[in-house]
Amino acid sequence: KRAIDNASEVSVRSALFEGTSDPVVPDYIKLDAYREAGGYKLLERVRAGELDAAAIADKALEAGLRGLGGAGFPTGTKWKIVHDLPAPKYLTINGDEGEPGTFKDRVHLERDPHRMLEGALIAAHAISAARIYLYMRDEYPAVLRILKTEIEALREAGIITTIDIELRRGAGAYICGEESAMIESIEGKRGLPRHRPPYIAQVGLFGRPTLNHNIETLFWIRDIVEKGSEWFASHGRRGHKGYRSFSVSGRVRDPGVKMAPAGITMNELLAEYCGGMEEGHVFKGYLPGGASGGILPASLADEPLDFGTLDKYGCFIGSHAIVVFSDQDDMRDVALNLMRFFKHESCGQCTPCRSGTEKMEHLLAAGDWDKTKITDLDEVMRSASICGLGQAASNPVTSVLKFFPEEFEK
Ligand code: SF4
Repeated sequence: KRAIDNASEVSVRSALFEGTSDPVVPDYIKLDAYREAGGYKLLERVRAGELDAAAIADKALEAGLRGLGGAGFPTGTKWKIVHDLPAPKYLTINGDEGEPGTFKDRVHLERDPHRMLEGALIAAHAISAARIYLYMRDEYPAVLRILKTEIEALREAGIITTIDIELRRGAGAYICGEESAMIESIEGKRGLPRHRPPYIAQVGLFGRPTLNHNIETLFWIRDIVEKGSEWFASHGRRGHKGYRSFSVSGRVRDPGVKMAPAGITMNELLAEYCGGMEEGHVFKGYLPGGASGGILPASLADEPLDFGTLDKYGCFIGSHAIVVFSDQDDMRDVALNLMRFFKHESCGQCTPCRSGTEKMEHLLAAGDWDKTKITDLDEVMRSASICGLGQAASNPVTSVLKFFPEEFEK
C-alpha cells in the first residue's frame, strides 16, 4: 500500500513539474541580464588559464568560505584534495534542502540562479570534472523549472561546453540530503547513507573522486574572486569570516532569509534583521541549526552563531536555520515534534536510529521523561548510528533536559 501511495504521490509531483499545473515562477535574473552585468566573464578567464584551480582554492581559503550545507568544511581544502586525485571525477551539487526551517537555497535560486551555476562551472573546471550532477529537491517546482530553462539556455549560448550539467530530481526523502545517500540516489539506488571511510572525495559517485557542494557555497565563488577574499572575510563579526544566509522563522516580526555576518549573535539577528519578537510574545529559546542542531534558551542568545561556536552546549549551527520560540511554546512539544520527524525520516538501515527514534518518540509521547532512560537511549543512538540523522536525532530532547529543566519537571 505504501508503495502505491508513494507512486501516486510521485506522479502528482511529476505532473506539477511537467506543466499540467504550472508552478508560479518568480521574476529572476535570466541569462542575458546576468551576462550584461558581467556574468560568466570569470568563467572565461578561468577557462583561458588566467586563473588556475590552486589560485581560486587559495582565495576561497583566505576568504574563510566553508561548506554552507551544514558541515562547514573549508571549501578550498576540498577542491585541493579532489584536484589531486585521478580522473574521471565528478562534481555533485546538493540542492536537497530538507532540513526543517531551511529555505535559503530556494531563495537564492529563485532570484539569481546563474550565480550558483557559474560557481559550479568554475569548480568543475578547476577539478577537471567529467560531469556535474545537480540534485534538486522536488518540493521546489519553480526552482526546477528555472534550472531546466537556464541550463538549456547555457547550452544554446555555448557556455556549457565539454562539462555538462545533469539535473536530477529528489523524491522527498530527508536522508537524501546526506551527501553519501544523495550519491546513492543519483546512482539510481535507494538513498541509504554509506559507511565512511572511504570519504566521497576519494570514492564517491560511481566509485570515483567527487567534489560535493551546497548551493550557497557555489553562490559565493564569483563574488570572492571578483571582489577579493578580504571583501568576503571582512563581513564577519567577532573574528568570524564572511556572510551567512540565515533562514529565520518562528515567533519573529519579520521572518525570511537574512544575509548577515558570520558570528552575529541571536539577539543581534533578532533586533537588527527580524524586527524583534512578534507582538505579545516573549523570547524563550531557539533552534540554531534546524531540527538537528539542538535547542538553546534565550539566556544563551549572546553566543556568536557560526561553525564550532555552539559545540560546548551540545548544539550546532548546521545550515543556519533559526526557529524562534516564545513563552507560548512548550519545549517538550517542540522536542516531541522533532523526534516524530526523525522517526519518520530515518532510512531504517541501522538499528540504533531505526529503533532508537521510535522508542524515544514513544517515551516522549507517553509523557515518560525519565532522565536515565532518555540519557541511555541518547548515548546508544549518538555513538552507534551510521550517519548524522541518528547521531543528532536526540539533540532537541537532551537540550530540553539541559536548558529547560522547569519544563522537563512538568
Ligand atoms: Fe539510516 Fe538513521 Fe542509520 Fe542514518 S542513522 S543510516 S538515517 S537508520
